[in-house]
Amino acid sequence: MRAVSQSLKLQNVCYEIRGPVLAEAKRLEDEGHRIIKLNIGNPAPFGFEAPSDILVDVIQALPTAQGYSDSKGIVPARRAIAQHYEVRDFPRIDIEDIYLGNGVSELIVMAMQGLLDTGDEVLIPAPDYPLWTAAASLAGGTPVHYICDEQSDWAPDLDDMASKITDRTKAIVVINPNNPTGAVYPREVLEGIADLARRHGLIVMSDEIYDKILYDDAKHHSIAALAPDLFCLTFNGLSKAYRVAGFRSGWLALSGPKEHARNYIEGLDVLANMRLCANVPAQHAIQVALGGRQSINDLILPGGRLLEQRDKTVELLNQIPGVSCVTPKGALYAFPRLDPKRYRIASDEQFAFDLLREQKLLVVHGTGFNWPTPDHFRIVFLPLVDELEDAIGRLEKFLTTYSQ
Ligand code: PLP
Repeated sequence: MRAVSQSLKLQNVCYEIRGPVLAEAKRLEDEGHRIIKLNIGNPAPFGFEAPSDILVDVIQALPTAQGYSDSKGIVPARRAIAQHYEVRDFPRIDIEDIYLGNGVSELIVMAMQGLLDTGDEVLIPAPDYPLWTAAASLAGGTPVHYICDEQSDWAPDLDDMASKITDRTKAIVVINPNNPTGAVYPREVLEGIADLARRHGLIVMSDEIYDKILYDDAKHHSIAALAPDLFCLTFNGLSKAYRVAGFRSGWLALSGPKEHARNYIEGLDVLANMRLCANVPAQHAIQVALGGRQSINDLILPGGRLLEQRDKTVELLNQIPGVSCVTPKGALYAFPRLDPKRYRIASDEQFAFDLLREQKLLVVHGTGFNWPTPDHFRIVFLPLVDELEDAIGRLEKFLTTYSQ
């Protein structure tokens, strides 16, 4: 029989968060080892429960959620999203501008598939949530990474972004709050990005899935509201702030001047039709989530579990010689730096393998987030403080002797 190969389209597509290091962790678990998994931002297994209103509404809706819905999604959910954004000053938005998806993930892939031809470029942050880069590549486009500056709390470097715009650039992707750095972008930075988009006629895709997970004095601004003259795609969903990642419930909101983008929007409609609709029971979680009690505050305000875990993670990481960690102002992750003068790491994927095999601790290496140098890794601070102490203690022990 002829060998079966993957398509050429997949040649440059990587998604390392669930890559070979995770496969090795599964192998070790099958051998009976207990692995501390700080690799995936999945709140439920760490004891974060969904607001009960959401579960009640979904259970009640089940008998009527057996059929397909409209391709864009059920009207009450889309109406709730449109209203949610209307009161947040998103320009010119109504329910026809809302698409529900099987998580934000599906909508990211659709947005890229609908936009890019071979050679078209998209500006994507480095580091990024790597689905963005993978989806741009899969769609035949060229991801071009702009640097986020660790010295400026990981804010995008606008000069770097400007220098990478060419006549093939079609869009700027913004991930705010950011995964993996936890940065929450200041208003001026977002205005700077909007300015570049305006000057070069680019569309903006803004992934705001962590917009409610904010610490300290951080304030989230949506670029769509700051720049009403731009055509923006804003992505959000229930996986993180509402802790129902397994429901696969997300949305895409189009805003701003849509008349110039009519052809692209028709393409999005075709893609939405082709996948028929998003998981219908989970669509019923959206209206109650947006209108219900915002119980995330119990987790992120002083005394809240997530805030406490964030603080402990940053404190312990910064105590390790040669490790430094910018304090995340949002999301669920820290992205610490390993000083290259102290730690000789040629391959950070190898570093993640070695840490896993030696200390049974699973993290994701920084180059898996399209960070250009092997000197960072991402750690998820969802476990309770005791487990974080255990995990970071293991890391410290490992680093005392580590060299490649
Ligand atoms: N966008 C970002 C920045 C993420 O971190 C994630 C998941 O970790 C996603 C999108 C995917 O979200 P969903 O569960 O809605 O597909």
